[in-house]
Amino acid sequence: MKDLKKYFPFYDKQSNLIYFDSSATSLKIKKVIDAEMQFLTENGTNPHAVDYKKGYQALELIEQARQLTKEFINAKKPEEIIFTSGTTHSINLLANGLKKLIKKGDEIIVTELEHSANLLPWIVLAKSNGAKVKKVELNDDFTIDIDSFKAILSSKTKIVSFASISNTIGAKNDIKLITKVIKDFNKDIIVHVDAAQSIGHIRTDVTDLNIDFMSWSAHKMYGPFGLGCLYGKYDLLNQLEPLFYGGGMSLKIESDLINYSLATLPEKLEGGTPNISAIVGFIESIKFVNLIGLENIEKYELELKKYFVDKVKENNLEKHIIFYNLDIKTPIILFNVKGVNPQDITNFLDDKYNILVRGGANCARRIEGVINTKIAIRASFGINNNKAEIDKFIEALKNTNSFLD
Ligand code: PLP
Repeated sequence: MKDLKKYFPFYDKQSNLIYFDSSATSLKIKKVIDAEMQFLTENGTNPHAVDYKKGYQALELIEQARQLTKEFINAKKPEEIIFTSGTTHSINLLANGLKKLIKKGDEIIVTELEHSANLLPWIVLAKSNGAKVKKVELNDDFTIDIDSFKAILSSKTKIVSFASISNTIGAKNDIKLITKVIKDFNKDIIVHVDAAQSIGHIRTDVTDLNIDFMSWSAHKMYGPFGLGCLYGKYDLLNQLEPLFYGGGMSLKIESDLINYSLATLPEKLEGGTPNISAIVGFIESIKFVNLIGLENIEKYELELKKYFVDKVKENNLEKHIIFYNLDIKTPIILFNVKGVNPQDITNFLDDKYNILVRGGANCARRIEGVINTKIAIRASFGINNNKAEIDKFIEALKNTNSFLD
């Protein structure tokens, strides 16, 4: 496969830019942008306004997106897909929705590598209900250590929540194995996967994996901002307390202003006017990923990573740069130039080479518990990149030794 730059209008007027920040957000494809624009220009009505044809068409687009999403992750029913504003919203919806389940002394298991969005909601839930968040030990490749994991599962464990791929070090967990270990121990423990980093890169079959819930953002799969999904097995999803109460999810409010009844799934968890233009864009993003093929995407991105790693070795870059995850088979590179603040390096790469990478904690505030630094630089490759760009990156990294003079 060649790079797929032609799909991304980002490069139309700035082909000199080297975008290595797909982990933060992937670039948007033209079809997504066009679909949003077309909906806003030619329709733009509220999907709750089913009294006229335009409103009804808007509603139909939501159901089309839900059906496509269901097929994309192999869920059992479209009602198992809840549209949210992104991963953060999905996990907050889930943690809030499980409030009734968590009692004093219960335990929620996470890893220290989680993004804040998959840590804070659980910490807040645990604090408010007198429960505890526990961290599981990691292997040398930063994946969950199965033996230590087995050892901390107990009758107090109620929820396990972990990322399929961590957004900093790129560790890729064996979701199926971890879920089996949990379910063999106690089938009622809830398993949630934060799939923000994997959804647009590797295939996720929720039925095969047997996970209970999964969250992700559309903007990490070449799609629109302001949209995400929470997948849940129907019966479990149906037990969640809504996070938002309002229009679109209420069926009846009694005159006593005490009693009410709510719509069934999925509307029950989707209070308020949905982000319909983003949902319309998301239809195109799923179609695009299906067209290219997740297997091809994964293969191409790993090829880029391998190319980068080979060049690092060839150029002996490890002399002045600490790489934390060269061996990990995901397209994320985490590194620090010895003795230099990451921000100075990201500015240098941006100003001198038009290379866009992130520096800092990358929203994983407990990374220091896993590697020996609070901050690092992250470069993440995607299908919009190619080997020539990596060559330029290597050149730039070689020249970061100028900071050491
Ligand atoms: N979880 C992971 C692993 C992420 O990488 C991100 C975004 O970087 C999030 C959660 C939060 O996603 P969003 O900001 O789109 O809600």
